[in-house]
Amino acid sequence: MRAAGELTGRTLNYIEKLVKSGVTTKQLDEAAEAFIRKNGGIPSFLNYDGFPGSICTSVNSQIVHGIPSKKVKLKDGDIISIDCGAMIDGYHGDAARTFLVGEVDPEIQKLVEVTRECFFKGLEMAVPGNHISDISRAIEKHALAHGYGIVRELVGHGIGSHLHEAPEVPNFTSVRMGRGARLAPGMSIAIEPMINLGSCEVRILDDGWTCVTADGKPSAHYENTVFITKDGNEVLTNPN
Ligand code: MG
Ligand code: MG
Repeated sequence: MRAAGELTGRTLNYIEKLVKSGVTTKQLDEAAEAFIRKNGGIPSFLNYDGFPGSICTSVNSQIVHGIPSKKVKLKDGDIISIDCGAMIDGYHGDAARTFLVGEVDPEIQKLVEVTRECFFKGLEMAVPGNHISDISRAIEKHALAHGYGIVRELVGHGIGSHLHEAPEVPNFTSVRMGRGARLAPGMSIAIEPMINLGSCEVRILDDGWTCVTADGKPSAHYENTVFITKDGNEVLTNPN
């Protein structure tokens, strides 16, 4: 898990340097796949349920699961959420960042910053003895304090020899979820706030994958794979 997580985080750091105006999301995808393979990993997302890329590239109002394309060229003022997974020796890492392209509207920069903060608020609660809902509540509180919409259709998850495992790790609390699973040493989970500048409503594009905001406003994503230890937690995917 450490090796897979480390490579996943390092791939995102590498891709961040390539994010600039004029680059296509397909070029970022090819660079990520080459980097993962060169470093002894296998892209976790490639062919997952038929997904055609090694990373997800979601631009502006795209929340998650954007498909890399030669036709999508980044331009000044865009934001791009890149979700990446790498497998080593049968174990997965999963992490996402939203990067700024050139000069981005301050209101949108703030969304990106607060989404990252939401992760760290959740992380503080990811300790043995707490429940999943303690993480969810911390994220929800921080996002709502800024008046943002929290995506409800997609959630964080357990991770290990499968990319997505139980338990679900929602970014909101609900009666249905209750307190959720109790956290114990040895568990690994992906905590991943997906936060919208506008409403929480989403829709799926005709490609069957891309999840976008219904109101067309921007969305940000920040994720790391987190290991629950005896004393607290360890983030496995090089957060920055
Ligand atoms: Mg992910
Ligand atoms: Mg994930």
